[in-house]
Amino acid sequence: MIDSLISDHATNICIFCGEDDDLTKEHVIPQWVYDRCTKRKFITTTNKASQTYHKTTVPACKDCNNSILGELERYLKHKFSDIDLIESYFSADDIEKIILWLETLEYKFQVLDLKRNLNKVKGSDYIPYIGKMPISMFQGPMDQSPSKVFSNLRNALKALSVKSKMAKLNSLCVIRTTNPDFHFFHSTNNFIFIELAQYSVAFFYFYKEEFASPKEAEFKAQQIVKNEYASAST
Ligand SMILES: [Zn+2]
Repeated sequence: MIDSLISDHATNICIFCGEDDDLTKEHVIPQWVYDRCTKRKFITTTNKASQTYHKTTVPACKDCNNSILGELERYLKHKFSDIDLIESYFSADDIEKIILWLETLEYKFQVLDLKRNLNKVKGSDYIPYIGKMPISMFQGPMDQSPSKVFSNLRNALKALSVKSKMAKLNSLCVIRTTNPDFHFFHSTNNFIFIELAQYSVAFFYFYKEEFASPKEAEFKAQQIVKNEYASAST
């Protein structure tokens, strides 16, 4: 069983449906998002390692890539380019879709971390691999095949998106921005900040934390952004 896990974990399957046919490389950060970015690299807070946007991918089948994510992203891009945040605001329904999209980004980062940790221990002990499980998203015994691991992750994602419909709306801050460049930072299981310069909008989203009011979330987000830029410039 353990042997099969270690020999099998390199198997590529679609991270959304588990299929192994027609696999494509799905960018963790979609290309249209960092279009205007002058830097080609980013740092994740998980391991502080520098990564290149276009090389940071996870496997997804053509269907899921086009139908699930592609559909959601096409819809959102349309909304982003339509809205003028001085005059109006996103509908509750669109806010939920933005949250869902930010959760898929988190999911892809989680899968990325998981795959890295599996690869790290290739040919070594089983125990360190368990110890390095980065994820609080899935529960239950980890004595399963990689495809089972991924299906657990997928279920966790579904649970998150259902939850987001209710209490999580305050956890998303929508910020109007006039910055010319793309900014991004992400902390696994914690938060994401993503600034879409081409649409003059930025999002700060708390993955776990819930807030009594949008103001409260905004206040905390502002502090994190400030600290992030203070530490980046020293
Ligand atoms: Zn798929």
